[in-house]
Amino acid sequence: MSTTKTMTLRDLEIGATGTVTTVGGEGALRQHFLDMGVIPGADITLVKYAPMGDPMELRVHGYALTLRVADAEKIGIRPSENTKYKVSSAVGAADPAHPGLGEDGKYHVQADEHPLPEGTPLTFALAGNQNCGKTTLFNQLTGASQHVGNFPGVTVDRKSGVVRGYPGTEITDLPGIYSMSPYSSEEIVSRQFILNEKPTGIINIVDATNIERNLYLTMQLMELDVPMVLALNMMDELKGNGGAILVNKMEEMLGIPVVPISALRNEGVDELARHAIHIAKYQERPGRNDFCDRDSHGGAVHRCLHGVMHLIDDHAAAAGLPRRFAATKLVEGDEAILAALNLSQNEKEMLEHIIVQMEEERGLDRAAAIADMRFAFIEKLVDKTVIKPQESREHARSRKIDAVLTGKYTALPAFIGIMAAVFYLTFNVFGAWLQTGMEMGIEALTGVVDSAMTAWGVSAPVHSLVIDGIFGGVGSVLSFLPVIVVLFFFLSLLEDTGYMARVAFVMDKLLRKIGLSGRSIVPMLIGFGCTVPGVMASRTLPSDRDRKMTIMLTPFMSCSAKLPIYGFLCDAFFPQHSGLIMVGLYFLGIAVGILVALVFKGTMFRGEAVPFVMELPNYRMPGAKNVAQLLWEKAKDFLQRAFTIIFFSTIVIWFLQSFGLNFSMVDDPEHSILALLAGLIAPIFAPLGFGDWRISTGLITGFLAKESVVSTIEVLFGSVDALLAAITPAAAAALLVFCLLYTPCAAAVASVRQELGGKWAAGVVLLQCGVAWICGLLTYMACMLVF
Ligand code: GDP
Ligand code: MG
Repeated sequence: MSTTKTMTLRDLEIGATGTVTTVGGEGALRQHFLDMGVIPGADITLVKYAPMGDPMELRVHGYALTLRVADAEKIGIRPSENTKYKVSSAVGAADPAHPGLGEDGKYHVQADEHPLPEGTPLTFALAGNQNCGKTTLFNQLTGASQHVGNFPGVTVDRKSGVVRGYPGTEITDLPGIYSMSPYSSEEIVSRQFILNEKPTGIINIVDATNIERNLYLTMQLMELDVPMVLALNMMDELKGNGGAILVNKMEEMLGIPVVPISALRNEGVDELARHAIHIAKYQERPGRNDFCDRDSHGGAVHRCLHGVMHLIDDHAAAAGLPRRFAATKLVEGDEAILAALNLSQNEKEMLEHIIVQMEEERGLDRAAAIADMRFAFIEKLVDKTVIKPQESREHARSRKIDAVLTGKYTALPAFIGIMAAVFYLTFNVFGAWLQTGMEMGIEALTGVVDSAMTAWGVSAPVHSLVIDGIFGGVGSVLSFLPVIVVLFFFLSLLEDTGYMARVAFVMDKLLRKIGLSGRSIVPMLIGFGCTVPGVMASRTLPSDRDRKMTIMLTPFMSCSAKLPIYGFLCDAFFPQHSGLIMVGLYFLGIAVGILVALVFKGTMFRGEAVPFVMELPNYRMPGAKNVAQLLWEKAKDFLQRAFTIIFFSTIVIWFLQSFGLNFSMVDDPEHSILALLAGLIAPIFAPLGFGDWRISTGLITGFLAKESVVSTIEVLFGSVDALLAAITPAAAAALLVFCLLYTPCAAAVASVRQELGGKWAAGVVLLQCGVAWICGLLTYMACMLVF
């Protein structure tokens, strides 16, 4: 090891542990490192590199974290001295039974009891890290009463519901966050919700098996001075491994009620609800929000924070911000809070002087000093109250699974195998089976309605509208519901077990080359099945830029509804090479997607993909309730779309197809308005070799559902021979490429609109059509040269 160059995380050997000395980087990213526990003095172990050599998996504060190699170089370390396992001083201490809400369970004194007036609605924010069991707890607390909406102005899901058994309450499931620093859009949303909407209480859920990192958020929430209760989740796992938590001691040290629960097994949830109602009703604020130690390092941080608090006292009150929270955020260097406080120039300078003085005395910069203060308190708290098992069974199991799923040689084959199995089961086994059933059901229903309408002598246009328009159009889209639900079932399994995080870890390096990060792989993979759930799955992406870019690229992944088109045209024109051509089309879609991504990267989506600082949770079995809940939501989402946008556009197309310009029904589709319109746009396709109105009509109906391209062309041409006579093989090749790339179907466009808004949806349509036209033209010209 060279002594001239300072050592960084990069220089650690696999399995070795180092102590952090410096944390480089700047701004929000650096704050994020600190918030995730990478602070000076922390011990970090290098677990492994991803199969492609980047990113790497680390262990810090008892959990697994990913970091890109380039970011790791910014973190200076020295060899660690204290590698010995430290025995907690809580070992051997007995924790008496946890008191309920009796004499001992009261957290306020009579004198400052200020109950809210009877009948005041109690609103709760459910806040916690990602993967700590928030969704599971939320579903337990609310039962089936929740509703999903959007946080105003952003497309992050907002789920809220009534706490079961307590009418007049509302609990909102906030996005999973690691700190109250505005890093990802979700953290901004959560922070704004708590600061602006002022819930009457906070339920903070904490993963007890990963308690140090989780408590970091807890302390920031306590600084907000909002009544709060702490839910220690995953107690079943902790206890099962011989760990324990001295709950009473923890309550005493924190000054808030602490309730051990297991959300998965629904243990302790009722008690948690009772405590939550109680603290909100009596507005019992945390008993302490002061975590600075007046003796540590000469009290530098302590004096600084208290000085700042006095300095900004009136400004914080005027801005409606909790004083302590505002002070720590100011010292951390939070621009938003600084702006909100509206300090005078003189005060700003004074603030700066106070902070600089602290940095000098403490020997750490401002952000690191605050993070260090929090982790120092957590360390003390955990030492006194938590008895940890040596290595939990769950972690040992995760390590074994990861040896294969993120192993150097096994990761990619495992990934391909798992995805192949998911698609096979979805599209060929369960989904196909259910889809056939659904189609039969729709057909039977159509038949019944058809004969009933005939019997009642319903007029021809109405009859046609209902049968050909509504049942035909909505029905064909509806028949996709089973496939979508089954696909989401598997994907939610992969997501909730923790495998998706591993896929992102394994694929990150590859995706970075086109300007995305590992997490974008998931929506794109789903896109091969169906663009609609693919676009919906992009919600999990942390950065807005990545999300938009991923959504724009997902439609390039050839969806399953295009298969019939490929099959039909290949059989007609290139029967000897159909397999090869189909595979080629899939790869062409990916290739064009990559090209477009590269163009995006250099133009409208300039800048880096978000840093890949991500937790790798232990593998866990997802709860059946969670999965059922999610499936129901996705199905509802899809049905809503089917019965609004698709319903409407179906009727429009049916009208255009069935009526002539004189608004009477036509017998021959050639005289319909649709044919006229198709005739108008047909010349656009002349350079590509298929400027035939019948093909244009097929392409227009394909906008509703890709499968209908084939059915329309079949009907309008009458026979394959007629089609063969109408266009050349070169034109057919161009048509194949055009169908691969042109606008996603109405359902997909509707979901893009729902995620990003109308402008982006229009953008996707224009982009795809433009790219398809150009690629079609190139194909046509290339084929003309060859044949
Ligand atoms: P979220 O990301 O915070 O919403 O967490 P989820 O509710 O999705 O839970 C993450 C994983 O932890 C899922 O696989 C759950 O089944 C599991 N889980 C949640 N609560 C518990 C618990 O109390 N005990 C155990 N053993 N697992 C749990
Ligand atoms: Mg969740």
